Amino acid sequence: MATAAPTLRPRRDIPFGRPMIGEAEKAAVIAALGSPTLTHGPRVRQFETDFAAFTGAERAVATSSCMASLHMAYLALGIEPGSEVIVAAQTHIATAHAAELCGATCVFVDCDKDGAIDVAQVESAICSRTRAIAIVHYAGFPVDIAALKRVAERHGVPIVEDCALALGTRFNGAHVGLHGDIGCFSFYPVKHITTGEGGMVISRRADLLDRVSRLRAFGIDRNIVSERALPGEYDAIELGLNYRMSEIAAAIGIEQLRRAPEFLERRRENFTLLREGLAGGDDLWPLHESQPVADVGVYCLVAMLSARLTRVRPQLMRALSGHGVGASVYYPRPVPAMSYYRHKYAYDLSRFPRAGLISSASIALPIGPHLDAADIRYMIETIPDAIQEALSA
Ligand SMILES: *Cc1c(COP(=O)(O)O)cnc(C)c1O
Repeated sequence: MATAAPTLRPRRDIPFGRPMIGEAEKAAVIAALGSPTLTHGPRVRQFETDFAAFTGAERAVATSSCMASLHMAYLALGIEPGSEVIVAAQTHIATAHAAELCGATCVFVDCDKDGAIDVAQVESAICSRTRAIAIVHYAGFPVDIAALKRVAERHGVPIVEDCALALGTRFNGAHVGLHGDIGCFSFYPVKHITTGEGGMVISRRADLLDRVSRLRAFGIDRNIVSERALPGEYDAIELGLNYRMSEIAAAIGIEQLRRAPEFLERRRENFTLLREGLAGGDDLWPLHESQPVADVGVYCLVAMLSARLTRVRPQLMRALSGHGVGASVYYPRPVPAMSYYRHKYAYDLSRFPRAGLISSASIALPIGPHLDAADIRYMIETIPDAIQEALSA
């Protein structure tokens, strides 16, 4: 029988993510509940203004989720049946699902060894039906968007940036989401900041933001002519949705955004400490091993596993969990390997070797602001034990 080495280390509880909701958020929610407007009101407008200031955007539009943001981004770009959208294979399914909901065909492209979309493969995938290129800033690390923009501009194809894991990430000094045509953010509970559920859209293009504002509220004209319209009088000028953010969510968002610089700093510190502690491991080592993080809103630490540890990844996750460490996988399969896409497109999955490797041979470790340096040191000490337990299970 395999026996784990006795450990005197007191167990710590280190969930993968935990929303950082404090008294300010709670008070803001109570205040919002006491106001006459529960959705689409002054708090939403303030959160949009604050978010624009935070990212350096001229304007931001709040939505109900990142998925909703992506859906409207594609609609605003005119994605429709017959359109092709080039999508990173290594992303959250929402990046692809939103394009599918517009009736588009997804054309998947593999990533590089760090999980960023392979720009050379994007160029080969462009054809006369291509209407957008959808990328993700994986784990918060920016895609080389300058190179991607050269390709996109050469072919006149707009870029959609999925920034759900990249709040606080800047590339060449400008926040992600402002390099391509439109950028989409998530405020899901374990992202950098949360509103419970929520999202945001930023863009340098006023035409796209006007269109998104209208789409999020049934396609009615009220946003534009609200001053002139009679109460109860409005017109639907296009087919729209209800993807609005509530005042309650925005109240939380305003407070969370105030704390974002502190959250981001903690993420960078935790990531740097954990990366140093895991560097050079034979069975487990950090991806993004040498990238600077000063301008990165780093989301998690993706650790690559040796072949022998990959074979026992479930046991490793269980061993970590036994020590109180909540690991995750980003993402469990490349999008084209998800059943819906496999059935629809029947891609030869050997076309996505790097996304396949990250999916099958990595784990994501927590670095969020709910953790301090003692938690990170605990993980650095515990991970070798968990590896031994998994290998001898
Ligand atoms: C979490 C996530 C989403 C989905 O965000 P929601 O706000 O839950 O819709 C989309 N894309 C990426 C890259 C994500 O990580």
